[in-house]
Amino acid sequence: MRLLLVEDDPMIGEAVADALRGEGHGVDWAQDGPSGARALAAGAPYALLLLDLGLPGRDGLQLLADLRARGDRLPVLVMTARDTVGDRIAGLDAGADDYLVKPFDLDELLARVRALLRRASGRAEPLLAHGRLRLDPAKHTAWLGEQPLALSAREFALLQALLEKPDAVLSRAQLEERLYGWNEPVGSNTVEVHIHNLRRKLGERAIRNVRGVGYTLGDLETPD
Ligand code: CA
Repeated sequence: MRLLLVEDDPMIGEAVADALRGEGHGVDWAQDGPSGARALAAGAPYALLLLDLGLPGRDGLQLLADLRARGDRLPVLVMTARDTVGDRIAGLDAGADDYLVKPFDLDELLARVRALLRRASGRAEPLLAHGRLRLDPAKHTAWLGEQPLALSAREFALLQALLEKPDAVLSRAQLEERLYGWNEPVGSNTVEVHIHNLRRKLGERAIRNVRGVGYTLGDLETPD
């Protein structure tokens, strides 16, 4: 998934961005209020906003209020050192979906991110399945039939994107948007390399290339 992180503290920002990238997410990191607002206005397909409240330029609560005033329902996880009950209520009233008080444990942050993404996609059942393929985004595990699969974080994220829209054809640009954030160079054939590796693990016909359009799930019923 492509996530937006708005956090001015360099150490916290880097730790959070690294942890999220380790889960296979593409992370855009804005380090002050105005650049956070610009990133939101630019219309990238973000799945989640991780928002600090005390930000230079524009306060996080204001940014959140503006977002909701536009009718944008993007899930928002507020991360802040403001931990009075009044602050939490203000954050939730302004439209935050969840609230984490600093200092927090990175594993807890990742668990909450997974829960928010799951809730946002409207799936009560966290498992994704297609044919003989099953994916558990919470545990980051995948099976083909009874066989557990060893997938890299990017391969997992790419497969998850395809499984979430099993009837859609996703373009290379759409897949890159899901896999990479700003400042992450995307090699000209990176998506192709991941697809090649996934076919090696899942079978040559598991992912179909629709010429000139993109990629979609293929035959995952019959063993290769
Ligand atoms: Ca701050």
